[in-house]
Amino acid sequence: MLIAIIGAGPIGLEAALYARKLGHDCVVFERGLVAQNVSRWGFVSLFSPWTMNTTPLGWKAINAGRLTDPPNPKICPTGDELRDRYLLPLSSSRQLQDAIWVNTTVLKIARKSGRFEITLRDPSGAQRVESAGAVFDCSGTYHHHRWAGRGGVPAPGERDAESRIWYELPDVIGRDRDRFIGRHTLVLGAGYSAATVLLGLEALHRENSRTRASWAIRRIGQALQALHNDPLPARASLVKHSLEIANKPPKWLQYVGNCVLERIDDAKQIGVTLKYMETDLALVVDEVVALVGYGPEQLIESWTSPPPAAADGLLNPEPNFFILGAKSFGTNSNFLLAVGHRQIREAFRIVTGDQNLDLYR
Ligand SMILES: Cc1cc2nc3c(=O)[nH]c(=O)nc-3n(C[C@H](O)[C@H](O)[C@H](O)COP(=O)(O)OP(=O)(O)OC[C@H]3O[C@@H](n4cnc5c(N)ncnc54)[C@H](O)[C@@H]3O)c2cc1C
Repeated sequence: MLIAIIGAGPIGLEAALYARKLGHDCVVFERGLVAQNVSRWGFVSLFSPWTMNTTPLGWKAINAGRLTDPPNPKICPTGDELRDRYLLPLSSSRQLQDAIWVNTTVLKIARKSGRFEITLRDPSGAQRVESAGAVFDCSGTYHHHRWAGRGGVPAPGERDAESRIWYELPDVIGRDRDRFIGRHTLVLGAGYSAATVLLGLEALHRENSRTRASWAIRRIGQALQALHNDPLPARASLVKHSLEIANKPPKWLQYVGNCVLERIDDAKQIGVTLKYMETDLALVVDEVVALVGYGPEQLIESWTSPPPAAADGLLNPEPNFFILGAKSFGTNSNFLLAVGHRQIREAFRIVTGDQNLDLYR
């Protein structure tokens, strides 16, 4: 059976390897380059160590025929290290080198006579249709930001200011530093990404005391919550620090909990109005970083509504159609690669009907 995989991110690549190991024909359609989304946040250190981000099957494929030193399994790599040391070598391994079609965007998927018809835009810009017996949608969410306004719809002025707003993590202390040092930044959002940006702004404030931030979140206690006995120490310490500065904001930080973005006026500086305790709070800032999450793009036609956010596990809305990886969590940003590896194992148990199948053992 031909399996079509959408997305050559960490989960699409692992799913393709699993398929090929089982003898399935499979092809991976990737809108950009391998690990395209990981590259966009490659400067960030993962919370999870190498051992949780990779699989024994993947290392075997990479190391076949040559001896390389595997990284220390307990160390947390950056996104760039994960791409360069694991994802790219995996994509060019003997098993996968002819499976990946880069610069090929899946536009829609329809079911016809028990098979899937996949409409693609190929690298020349032309559209064509490919057919497959099963589809694994591993297309992630990172390229598809949510809006920062009330209820996830654009606030007045937000659409016009979209190109001025950072919806993806800026590299505050590295590549994008000049945009933030000595300036005033509004950070919207209460997830790990917002916390990472605040940590960076704090470091810049130590270098240049004019660096300031306002941090606005919709609901106190919304996302950044310390997990009891969090197994990932880097995540635990980031959350702890963010809660500390929210509870007792230092001089460089203005913290506004329980507020919504009312409007944005884009000029040389950016005017922002927040609604806080029934009153308008007007700010003038240099940068707006809106880390308010990402949402899944609907590719299959037969759905009548967008996929629900799954707490865990995989989404399987149609026979032989699976949504794996970050996309299976919808707008929930708690997805971990280790969960994705379990999803792959589950999906192939369903495809093969073998409940004991486990190539990761
Ligand atoms: C800043 C950040 C830090 C993170 N830290 C961790 C961590 O510490 N530990 C952890 O386990 N997880 C972490 N994650 C979560 C998660 O593991 C990553 O988001 C991971 O990249 C998800 O892998 P994926 O393969 O599901 O999706 P992605 O990596 O997003 O890959 C999806 C791929 O699909 C392609 N694509 C999208 N649409 C189409 C289309 N229509 N046609 C063809 N191709 C398409 C994209 O170009 C992309 O290459 C982090 C995420 C972020 C954003």
